Amino acid sequence: VLTWTMLFFWLVSIVLSYVLARLNMRPIMRSWRRQREFVANAAHELRTPLTIIQNKLELMLTHPNDKIVDQTEQITMSLGEVRRLNGLTSDLLLLARSDSDMTQINTEAVAMKPFLENVIQPYSEIAASQDKHFDSTIDLTQTLSIDRQRIHQLIVIFLDNALKYTTTGNDISFTAKQVGNRWILRVADTGIGLSDADKPHVFERFYRVDKSRSRQTGGNGLGLSIAKWIIDSHKGRVAITDNTPTGTIFTISFPMTKAK
Ligand code: ADP
Repeated sequence: VLTWTMLFFWLVSIVLSYVLARLNMRPIMRSWRRQREFVANAAHELRTPLTIIQNKLELMLTHPNDKIVDQTEQITMSLGEVRRLNGLTSDLLLLARSDSDMTQINTEAVAMKPFLENVIQPYSEIAASQDKHFDSTIDLTQTLSIDRQRIHQLIVIFLDNALKYTTTGNDISFTAKQVGNRWILRVADTGIGLSDADKPHVFERFYRVDKSRSRQTGGNGLGLSIAKWIIDSHKGRVAITDNTPTGTIFTISFPMTKAK
């Protein structure tokens, strides 16, 4: 009986390991780990501004006779953190929805030239106010089928980053053109640049090359992961190259989806 029982369990273990191997659990485990990391990172990011707001409010409660000017400063700082929380929660919501395929891409016919001109219009003023130079070339005259709101968001992410990470340089350029059967967006800056070690990771959620500086500049490390989702959902590709003498060039290309 013992031999038969052992044989039975041995057979069961062989069948079980075969079934588990066939099921290929690795991607499932990886996705669970990613989800756990996402939740932990999100909680951490939410906690920092909440702690600051709590401290400011407690300070105001315990020092009710502080000068108006000091109180105003506490309120202004708290408001900055509330704005940060607002941006962070909408980014988190968008990414969580994209994971569960709840965020739809709503394509419509968009005349690209006026659309792009409108999106980038504020940037020459913003750049000028920071003593930087913004230059644009739009050679895309077609009407294409795109999600207007998402492509707007995508361009804003790259241009905001170009401005944020150009503390040492002062040139930002935006180009839109057609190359073969694809349309290209190119955002180049002469800023701090990205090392070869960092380039493959910048599209990961919460990845920041310099966490401390990123907090000062208002970054949460989610912008480029949202950009990547928008690029993927339009069947696009993105490449990062170095600018000369310094800086970064992001080149995004999409298939020409001409509007009918
Ligand atoms: P963040 O909100 O921190 O800017 P992103 O997801 O947009 O997050 O970018 C991730 C990280 O990639 C940034 O923290 C920064 O370190 C790096 N990065 C993004 N754009 C640039 C750029 N144009 N030049 C240099 N580094 C950049």
